[in-house]
Amino acid sequence: MSPLLEIERITAGYGPVQALFGVSLRMEEGQVVALMGRNGMGKTTTIRCISRLLPLTGGTIRVAGQDIARLSIPAVARLGVGLVPEGRRCFAPLTVAENLIVAARPGPWDMARVCTLFPRLAERMGQVSATLSGGEQQMLAIGRALMTNPRLLVLDEATEGLAPVVRQEIWDGVRALKAQGLSILLVDKSLREICAVADRAVILERGESAWAGPIDDLTADLSDRYLGV
Ligand code: ATP
Repeated sequence: MSPLLEIERITAGYGPVQALFGVSLRMEEGQVVALMGRNGMGKTTTIRCISRLLPLTGGTIRVAGQDIARLSIPAVARLGVGLVPEGRRCFAPLTVAENLIVAARPGPWDMARVCTLFPRLAERMGQVSATLSGGEQQMLAIGRALMTNPRLLVLDEATEGLAPVVRQEIWDGVRALKAQGLSILLVDKSLREICAVADRAVILERGESAWAGPIDDLTADLSDRYLGV
């Protein structure tokens, strides 16, 4: 069977600025994989490439065996990539319920199940999303991605800028999703939380994958070398 996600030596950039110089990554269905590396090393750029928001200049990305190079952004979503982008990006004028409904695609995830995962959303279904707290917006962004019934959930800095207690609620949600068997690719700054939830890690260094392996093999030496400031 094809891996769920297979990235081979991709390159990409922003106009004349090259950001990725050869990123490779492979993940199987049911895994939680952390994409790690210091600021500016190419994590968000890699995620943009996976969702087709940014074109590749080289290399290949396959989702469930299918090369996504010629697919549109919605086609990649239909293939099963559910992106929770950095900065959340809820549809501000819409209510919580509307944000969820517009994303819905057939599958086991519906509004009721999203509310079970994040009960706070259940209390705010009629509230305009612009007026939600940062943590609630993040829950909504995750809920919206789940409503598309993704095979692969991609979380870019889902806990950034949130109070510790709210961060915990997001991590509880991520752990619950893992327990339900969802495949998750995530970027986050909390090494401790990543180590507790991820199966594997891929570390980027200056736009290249520098290390990949089981999370338990990520030694203090490696994290000093690639993640320390
Ligand atoms: P961070 O943890 O700070 O979000 P990152 O690992 O996600 O970092 P990227 O955002 O992918 O890194 O950035 C990789 C490189 O691409 C950096 O050198 C960055 O300056 C550059 N870059 C990112 N976005 C743009 C853009 N819109 N235009 C030009 N260069 C960009």
